[in-house]
Amino acid sequence: MIITRNFSGANITVQKINGDTVYLENQIRDTTEDWFYWAFRVDRANGRTVKFQFNKKVRVGYYGAAKSYDLKTWEWTGKWDDESSFTYTFGENEDTVYFAHCMVYSPEMFDDFCGRCGIEKKVLCKTKKGRDVPYIEIGEGEEVMFLTARHHACESTGNYVLEGLIEQYLKNPLPNIRVICVPFVDFDGVVDGDQGKARAPFDHNRDYPRDGESIYASTRRIREIANENKIRYAFDFHAPWHFTGENDTVFIVRNSHEKLAEIEKFGRLLEAGITPESLPYKVENDHAPDTTWSKTTSPTFANYMLNSMGADLSFTLETTYFKANDGVFSQKGAIELGRCFYKAIKGYNNK
Ligand SMILES: [Zn+2]
Repeated sequence: MIITRNFSGANITVQKINGDTVYLENQIRDTTEDWFYWAFRVDRANGRTVKFQFNKKVRVGYYGAAKSYDLKTWEWTGKWDDESSFTYTFGENEDTVYFAHCMVYSPEMFDDFCGRCGIEKKVLCKTKKGRDVPYIEIGEGEEVMFLTARHHACESTGNYVLEGLIEQYLKNPLPNIRVICVPFVDFDGVVDGDQGKARAPFDHNRDYPRDGESIYASTRRIREIANENKIRYAFDFHAPWHFTGENDTVFIVRNSHEKLAEIEKFGRLLEAGITPESLPYKVENDHAPDTTWSKTTSPTFANYMLNSMGADLSFTLETTYFKANDGVFSQKGAIELGRCFYKAIKGYNNK
């Protein structure tokens, strides 16, 4: 059995292998609090039943690991042993299996999506490590709907929502509103498999000061583009904390006392339009402004677009890693949520 991290988005340290138990630790890197993302590859474990044991709790979700053979299609292994371990029986023909904390969404998947939809990718800027950060600009119009994900590198769930949203926009665009989308704001973090959340000195979603410079190239460029355009809508797609309570839902972080009625109106449209195929969303799970960790004064993308760029509506949508109410996270369910989200934007825009 060989365990490696030789792929985009990988994150693991093997402490030791003792018989059929593998002892693992995920890499926190420059994140300033404990966090839970990991992803690794297993080769040549054919026919074996192996227990993967992490050194800490809050590492494994209810349905075990997300499993893939190609880093594009993901399914759950079934169930956890507990929140620090899962056990997997490898089939005789399973030469290579990828396991991850959640259903990873890679830049290659976004490339495939753009190819399928005939969308041309552009370069937003270069990262600190010299990589080109991709973005897209589609549709026609003087105003802009600005869409972002992966301000926190490990939070893949939002990318699936983005796919469904963009697909629907292409079918039925908003009048006079074009889309600018940066799907991987912390692109180095995504490729390197960083946690990205709560980075030192602060992460990408705390890099939108009302006055003063941004420290990351991508956030700096996003602000420039926003300044050059009239921003009507801005939505930022995230995943919440690992699990339990509010984290087992899909919810809007309501980030304005003044716009509370508008945000709630959008939420009601979204809830009313949720299909059986979609991950569930319920308005009652939304975060009220300035409760718990959500602050209307934090220098986040959503707050910046709302308060400094004058967006009509701008907020963060948090999409669970594992389950939303009674719905189990799947790639299809999250993409469908994006389609429903876009239909709610359409409804809201027709007000
Ligand atoms: Zn986040």
